[in-house]
Amino acid sequence: MNNIEFSNTANLPTTYGDFTLISFKEAGSFHEHCLLIKGDVKDQEDVIIRIHSECLTGDIFTSLKCDCGPQLNESLRVISERGQGMIIYLRQEGRGIGLFNKVNAYALQDKGQDTVQANHSLGFETDLRDFSIVLKALDHLGIKSVNLLTNNPDKIDIFQNSEIKVNSVMPLIIEANSYNEGYLNTKKEVLNHLF
Ligand SMILES: [Zn+2]
Repeated sequence: MNNIEFSNTANLPTTYGDFTLISFKEAGSFHEHCLLIKGDVKDQEDVIIRIHSECLTGDIFTSLKCDCGPQLNESLRVISERGQGMIIYLRQEGRGIGLFNKVNAYALQDKGQDTVQANHSLGFETDLRDFSIVLKALDHLGIKSVNLLTNNPDKIDIFQNSEIKVNSVMPLIIEANSYNEGYLNTKKEVLNHLF
């Protein structure tokens, strides 16, 4: 993997309380990721971590087609309540296919395909996201072990050949609505997500 560059740490007050923010990127990549940190996580064990992939439509536009926005907000709430933790926000839109292709996939979904079928119709794998950069970010902060905030058991695999231990997986309980019910069922049945 290429070298990773980290920005300085800046304060970021939010509606969920005070956080600090660090941006990071792989040399030669235009993807600028970030760490949103609550409390002191440096060299700590048992740090609550949410690994969140960017979803412009869900995170920003409050889309009801997926549960990304509520998952991000719930993560901020839980981390703020515990007083320590971190969101690793990765700029890999639409399971890694990018915004343009995601909108094309949504158009296929409008015609009745599910989220996985739509990606396949466009010639993409189910999931192109790359989480290897996560370990570098955790290493940078000297974090020894984590509690993962996720409904996706595959995220545990990121840590398989790593020194960083996953002590627990904490599910995020998000209520379904009439728009994302199908999407959440696909995640549960096809992608083995826990709820
Ligand atoms: Zn989403």
